[in-house]
Amino acid sequence: MQVKKGIRLQIYPNKEQSILLNKTLGCCRFLYNKMLEEHVKIYAQLKDDKDALYSHQYKTAKQYKQEFPFLKEVDAKALQTENRHLFAAYQHFFEGLKTGRAVGFPKFKSKKQYPQTYTTYNINNSIRIDNQKRKIRIPKVGWIKYRDNRAITDPIKHITLSKTATHKYFVAVTVVCEMEIPPKKTVLNREDIAGFDMSATHFLIGERVQYENPRFYREEEKRLKKQHRELSRKEKGSNNWEAARLKLASTYEKINNRKRDWLHKTTHDLSERYDAVILENLNIKGMQQFNSGLSKSIALDFSWCQFRTYLDYKVDWKGKYFVLIDRFFPSSKLCSVCGQINNDLTLSDKAWTCKHCSTTHHRDKNAVVNIKSEGVRILQEEIGIVVYPHHDTSTVGTTGSHASGENVRPYTDTGQFSLNEESTCL
Ligand SMILES: [Zn+2]
Repeated sequence: MQVKKGIRLQIYPNKEQSILLNKTLGCCRFLYNKMLEEHVKIYAQLKDDKDALYSHQYKTAKQYKQEFPFLKEVDAKALQTENRHLFAAYQHFFEGLKTGRAVGFPKFKSKKQYPQTYTTYNINNSIRIDNQKRKIRIPKVGWIKYRDNRAITDPIKHITLSKTATHKYFVAVTVVCEMEIPPKKTVLNREDIAGFDMSATHFLIGERVQYENPRFYREEEKRLKKQHRELSRKEKGSNNWEAARLKLASTYEKINNRKRDWLHKTTHDLSERYDAVILENLNIKGMQQFNSGLSKSIALDFSWCQFRTYLDYKVDWKGKYFVLIDRFFPSSKLCSVCGQINNDLTLSDKAWTCKHCSTTHHRDKNAVVNIKSEGVRILQEEIGIVVYPHHDTSTVGTTGSHASGENVRPYTDTGQFSLNEESTCL
């Protein structure tokens, strides 16, 4: 099967090349803003005449180039792509209106906004990579050095060039590669399925293993505060201000890089270890609750959206499953032994005793059992997977009675697994 893969390279343009790259970024931003301006103007003129509005022909990149000849100096494909970006921003906005999500109206792009990006397509080998010399050819700019050991041999579809707040340049290369994707498994062993309870303090709590959320932001909180303070004291636009701005931006960049590496490692590990991973779906509200009462930097330490995207394609490429259970599923309040719901449970209760069957539960472990049972139910009933029971349980019963048995193992020092140490020594 053909899949698209992204490879991010840091590139090192010479002075001349960086001028050209900046010019392309500037022209793309200019065109985007011009097109947005046109859309806003036409809407104001024709909003009462829907037919005229929908059939209106907006100016093409070519027409804009005639009007503003300096646009001709940069990569034409990059300019054409801006139209797609604007279309996507509008679509995103309209979808938000339909679903009630707060998505803002497309915004004008600012020169001060980072990262600045443009996308261009590979047409007749206009984008090439020389793996020996470690150089990438970018349309209209030429061969630029990069530093990376990976050999890139698959056909290149497009690249997105970006300039960060610290004035570093990156190219995200999208290649199309042939990948052997195993067919989706149809039979799973219960022990190869993992359910996790998510919390801001411990990140993922499973039956036997636990993934700690590294404290990338929290560790740097003091430094960030100091650098913010220093920046605010400088005169805006001065050399000292620029130096302080770069310092702060580079701290943010470092944290984000570490976070991204860690997310890739963790999702890779999950997709290797298990045939199915079950998690609760978090929506924006859930995230707020997830972060409630905790400092803002904890929220920054974890990106649910990135995590979900990475895990999703990683399990998919291995023929495995990632199951999200409904966020209304009462994972904490449900007694995993008898199925009774404890409506008196509060967020601060770490342990509780079921009034119906008198089992005393550890809050998180009880939730894990419930999440896994619900996930197994979805795998069986909704996806049609056969799930074999855990083979060291001799008595196999219904989900409820089974779940309360040996499946829940006490945490031991050896059984506990943390990616934290591993990722801090990158
Ligand atoms: Zn009970």
